[in-house]
Amino acid sequence: MSKASERGADVLIIGGGIHGLSTALFLAQAGVQVTVLEAQYCGRHASGVNAGGVRTLGRHAAEIPLALASRDLWHNLESTLGDDGGFVPSGQLKLAENAAELLECRHRVEHLQALGFAHEVLIDQHQVFEKVPSISRHVTGGIWVEDDGYAVPYRTVTAFRLAAQKRGVRIHENTPAQRIEQAGARWQVRTENGCFSAEHLVVTAGAWAAELAAQVGEPVPAHPEGLMLMVTHRVAPFCVPVLGATTRALSFKQFANGTVVIGGKLIGSLDFLSRHGEVDMARLGSSARTVTDLFPHLQHLGVNRVWAGVEAFTTDDLPVIGASRKASNLSYSFGFCGSGFQMGPGTGQRLAQLILGEHSDISLEPFAIDRFDVAAKAAASAIQPTSTLSQH
Ligand SMILES: Cc1cc2nc3c(=O)[nH]c(=O)nc-3n(C[C@H](O)[C@H](O)[C@H](O)COP(=O)(O)OP(=O)(O)OC[C@H]3O[C@@H](n4cnc5c(N)ncnc54)[C@H](O)[C@@H]3O)c2cc1C
Repeated sequence: MSKASERGADVLIIGGGIHGLSTALFLAQAGVQVTVLEAQYCGRHASGVNAGGVRTLGRHAAEIPLALASRDLWHNLESTLGDDGGFVPSGQLKLAENAAELLECRHRVEHLQALGFAHEVLIDQHQVFEKVPSISRHVTGGIWVEDDGYAVPYRTVTAFRLAAQKRGVRIHENTPAQRIEQAGARWQVRTENGCFSAEHLVVTAGAWAAELAAQVGEPVPAHPEGLMLMVTHRVAPFCVPVLGATTRALSFKQFANGTVVIGGKLIGSLDFLSRHGEVDMARLGSSARTVTDLFPHLQHLGVNRVWAGVEAFTTDDLPVIGASRKASNLSYSFGFCGSGFQMGPGTGQRLAQLILGEHSDISLEPFAIDRFDVAAKAAASAIQPTSTLSQH
């Protein structure tokens, strides 16, 4: 194959995380010729180093339809990818630790039911003790989601990569996109390894995507953070479901090998330019205390490894998914605010449908890239009358 044809495609995707590779796979399944450009290696960032939580529980209502569609794909990952990504449908449980938190959980479940969502179920103290017998007796109940679970991140993202390559997707690693621009009917992407072009461009560059969107005049109020995790030594099996808490930062799961992964959107530090997240041990310590409050028998359990990954957060805690509002044949999927691993399969499928012009019942309107302009304009016009009044 000539260098020129290697660099041309129907769709060019920037970013080889779960979102880029899942979009690539679903497009390739429809016969589209796809090329992925990855700055380092596939799965190097958030998609390969996250906590593996496959959680519809606790999501913003706008995300739920997409998260539920993604959940269906998680349950059938083996047939889609030939590998289940280590997915375990263990259920997920958000714990209430006092009466006020239980009331908060009750209100959430009632609110979701009023919106037509029945996947989150309120359970009482005794039901929590049945599911997690060794948990501290101060727990008052919680919210249970039966079909949630966890998976192995790097295995999952690699499975997407291999399935995409089997369908003919071309992947160029160590190829950071430097400049994107539309020339006539084609997108041109400049890299240090030459220029790539395609009719359609998809930006799935995780924490670095906003920089690329800004190049086409679509700035997004997103900021990167380093999120921390730790994994313990092995301990005898004591907890099947994935646990979260209502008011404390917690994400907690025990893998089949006995190790426990502990996180919960714990912010560390970040060297964005060198693409590196760093651990803050003092903050990790406070998370460990939450765990020992809930499971006093873990008090002397050693921590085996700690790490941090890089993730983008938007100001409204929702991702940007969908078509550019400034340029034709350009789509985005980024800014998943620490919860985008679960969304990977469903969002990739939905974005591919959008690019193919296929109908879907799942609206991407809540995730539109121009929603921040609309919100800023509304805030500015709300301020206007006050400033006029103050002139009198
Ligand atoms: C520590 C941690 C724990 C988390 N836990 C969970 C969890 O339990 N459950 C959950 O659902 N979510 C979780 N998340 C969030 C989840 O991992 C992310 O939302 C998701 O992986 C984002 O996927 P992505 O493909 O958008 O981004 P990434 O995985 O960041 O992929 C983007 C890719 O783009 C590449 N790239 C960047 N710039 C360029 C460029 N200019 N040119 C080419 N390539 C480029 C990067 O190298 C990277 O490989 C967690 C995140 C972290 C960091």
